[in-house]
Amino acid sequence: MQYDLIIRNGTVIDGSGMARFRADIGVAGGRIAAIGRLRESAREVIDAEGHVVAPGIIDGHTHMDAQVFWDALGTSSCWHGVTSVVMGNCGFSLAPCGERDKHLVMRNLERAEDIAREAMEAGIKWSWETFAQYLDAVERAPKGINYAAYMGHSALRTYVMGERAFSEEATEADIEAMKREVRDAIRAGAIGFTTSRSSTHETADRRPVASRLASWEEVRQLVGEMGELNAGVFEIAGEQTGADPERTRDYLGRLKALALETGVPVTFGQFAHRRYPDDWRQYVGLADETAQAGGRMFIQVHSRPVNGVNSFQTTMPFDSLPMWREIRKLQLEEQKAALRNPETRRKLVEIARERRRSAEPKNGQLFAMGPDFQWWWVADKPLPPYRSVAEIAAELNQDPVDVIIDLALKTDLKQLFFQTVANENQDHVLEMMRHPRCVVTFSDSGAHVSQLMDSSLQSHVLSYWVREKQALRLEEAIRMLTFVPASHWGLGERGLLRKGWAADIMIFDPDKITPDLPELVYDLPAGARRLRQKATGIMATIVNGEVVLRNNQHTGALPGRLLRGPLAA
Ligand SMILES: [Zn+2]
Repeated sequence: MQYDLIIRNGTVIDGSGMARFRADIGVAGGRIAAIGRLRESAREVIDAEGHVVAPGIIDGHTHMDAQVFWDALGTSSCWHGVTSVVMGNCGFSLAPCGERDKHLVMRNLERAEDIAREAMEAGIKWSWETFAQYLDAVERAPKGINYAAYMGHSALRTYVMGERAFSEEATEADIEAMKREVRDAIRAGAIGFTTSRSSTHETADRRPVASRLASWEEVRQLVGEMGELNAGVFEIAGEQTGADPERTRDYLGRLKALALETGVPVTFGQFAHRRYPDDWRQYVGLADETAQAGGRMFIQVHSRPVNGVNSFQTTMPFDSLPMWREIRKLQLEEQKAALRNPETRRKLVEIARERRRSAEPKNGQLFAMGPDFQWWWVADKPLPPYRSVAEIAAELNQDPVDVIIDLALKTDLKQLFFQTVANENQDHVLEMMRHPRCVVTFSDSGAHVSQLMDSSLQSHVLSYWVREKQALRLEEAIRMLTFVPASHWGLGERGLLRKGWAADIMIFDPDKITPDLPELVYDLPAGARRLRQKATGIMATIVNGEVVLRNNQHTGALPGRLLRGPLAA
């Protein structure tokens, strides 16, 4: 047999959780053609001696819907071994929507997901109206990795109701029209349908995004449409019920009933919070209860603290305060000069201190929280532990804001800080990751581009939980990141290394794999900024049988595909 590619001498960890073994892998026609001791030749040979050969990672929660049109590679996810992503989460997709109404879709996206409007205007050549046409556009676009796409409720509602989507309940006729679009989208290959009822999802003028205007009955009917077709996954950015047991019970009851009544798998992201340390258990428990009652529910969890990333080059929590506001508007050089002026600086520190005394975060407002310097970390290396600003301030007997300003000035304002907003307790994080109804995903890649950087959550699993903490066997960890998400989202013939399956493969050094520190770059269309994060220790990333990245450098290959859902696959 003549292979296109042979990966020799690697240690195969096949994604199933089975113990590793030494084997070569032969690839032909984009698929795995053989696993064993291969004596034949190939057009291309990779010597993977000392490396692990595993399935490519699958990320079930991204927002690459816009980015896919300007970033052929699929960064930053592709730099962490990810070979397939699911996009269109939380009700946000770019279709259905005709070009004349694209400002409405962008209105839903730009603040809620922090994707610059000018980047979307410059980077997207709008060539669709229906969701089916959007899928065709993604299919045509050059791609480094594979993409599956949900249809989002905010786009759908805006398409059917126009401006009314932002202010009104849907009429029966609106709901009928939306149901037709759901049906068409699923038939065309949408992987499911998503919505948001989260109070953090607002438009740029601080109104709720369109999906938040929907009644639960509207959601029920739209998800029911997928149930009729027996296809599609339903993802929801949930309601903030806070510590109110009545509201929580009501919301959980509706989710469970929805899963049972429609038969559609229901999924959502869940973090642990220091303010409600055991709240997440109810949600995980709900998935168990739903399964016992005959429904399907799975929970998306993260692998580490969820951190806002702050810097003087992007945003700081004090930006809206008096005086700060004026100074933060200046060019960075002028800001530096202002911070070096002792009198100005003294006032800035004083104002921030006042604000801390008065600020109490409102429930659900993750990013509006006043800074708690116990949970503010100096991001000076890729993996924890980090030193908190509070700890350094106590040691130096300084105000925490002075510490921050000193660090910023020392680094030409480049110093990044992690502000932990969720998943503070790492025992809980590990417990959630291990729960049989949880799936480790939720990078949000493509969104929150200057505030969060979680595309490395998978390389964090392999470096931190497997190597540093030895809390997971490598085989277990690989299974969590490959076979489990592939199964939940029904990505056929991916997520395992098996003869005949797609050759999506990651080759890495388990002793070296580590995320790099995030960095701020201005590489979006129209020069818009974003955080970017790479990783070290990955020898090759192979998609559909072609090497896309070698030592995380693009080879020029763009073999990624659109992965259509079950009715069109
Ligand atoms: Zn999301």
